[in-house]
Amino acid sequence: MELTFADIQAAHDVVRRHLPPTPLWSYPLLDRELGTSVLVKHENTQPVGAFKVRGGLTLLDALPEADRARGTVTWSTGNHAQSMAYASHLYGARCTVVMPANASPGRAAAVEAWGGRVVLTGATLEEACRHAERLAADSGARLVSPGDTPELLAGVGTVYLEILQQRPEVDVIVVPVGSGTGAAGACLVAGALAPGCAVIGVQSAASPAAHDSWRAGELLARPNRSTVAGLATGRGYALPQRVMRAGLADFLLVTDDEIGAARRLLATAAHTLAEGAGAAGIAAVLSRPDLFAGRSVAVVCTGGNADRSELDTLVDRREEDEPLATAGISVGGQSVTFRTF
Ligand SMILES: *Cc1c(COP(=O)(O)O)cnc(C)c1O
Repeated sequence: MELTFADIQAAHDVVRRHLPPTPLWSYPLLDRELGTSVLVKHENTQPVGAFKVRGGLTLLDALPEADRARGTVTWSTGNHAQSMAYASHLYGARCTVVMPANASPGRAAAVEAWGGRVVLTGATLEEACRHAERLAADSGARLVSPGDTPELLAGVGTVYLEILQQRPEVDVIVVPVGSGTGAAGACLVAGALAPGCAVIGVQSAASPAAHDSWRAGELLARPNRSTVAGLATGRGYALPQRVMRAGLADFLLVTDDEIGAARRLLATAAHTLAEGAGAAGIAAVLSRPDLFAGRSVAVVCTGGNADRSELDTLVDRREEDEPLATAGISVGGQSVTFRTF
């Protein structure tokens, strides 16, 4: 099945029955730091805290009644899991998610809170995938690939429909990439509505499988060392890679440290709590100002599910120890020095 823009339009009808469009805001302080004008699309405000909810709703809506009763099995480090659990809850379907054993406890708890079943197993996402395949084969449940399922891609593409309907003048959209469904959806929408608008993908340099697959024009497996859930995939996925090959203008890599700096900037300049993956687009603009200067940029804050360790690292203690300036005054003949931050 080849996906088209019409599939994304149809998905939008489904998504709009459940969710209002998310805000698209600009922030003068953020623009000043980034050196260009940036619109932030706030998918962190979704009920499950990430854009993937749009894919889950679109898939469950399309699922025949018998399949809903048998249920689905999928694998995920977090947000796709929550999306499937949320949508399955709304559509009265069973849902099982296999997560790697080291998945964040908060993310697993969120899936269970929506009524999903969590199976924690495997050292990596690839091992979790193998286990999900076995579970589906044994139970007759439908196996849902987070990357290669057309309904998921059509659903997440609705983010870009909202951006370009609201602001047709945008000329660059920056999209964090893990499997590539979001970026592929962006390519289909921009191709139909704004052919002059460049879609740029961003992945972590510590997990470059989607980036390297796109550059090489073939599906590659790569080391998967990023701590940024959502961007940390170990291989390219065929369906999104095919769409991105035709439509993506560029693909950038950022370091996990640059993503950390972008999370702090979103917190201070845009009162936004982003998880790492949600800040990767801002990290790309921060790291390549030359590329974005003078353009009208939209960046998707894809998610806000910062887990405990991401909350702990939101404040950079090294920065805290270094005062921006030291001032001295004289009080009653005594010299007093204090630091400003
Ligand atoms: C899944 C995810 C991504 C990557 O999206 P893909 O469609 O897999 O490329 C980016 N950000 C967040 C918050 C995610 O959950």
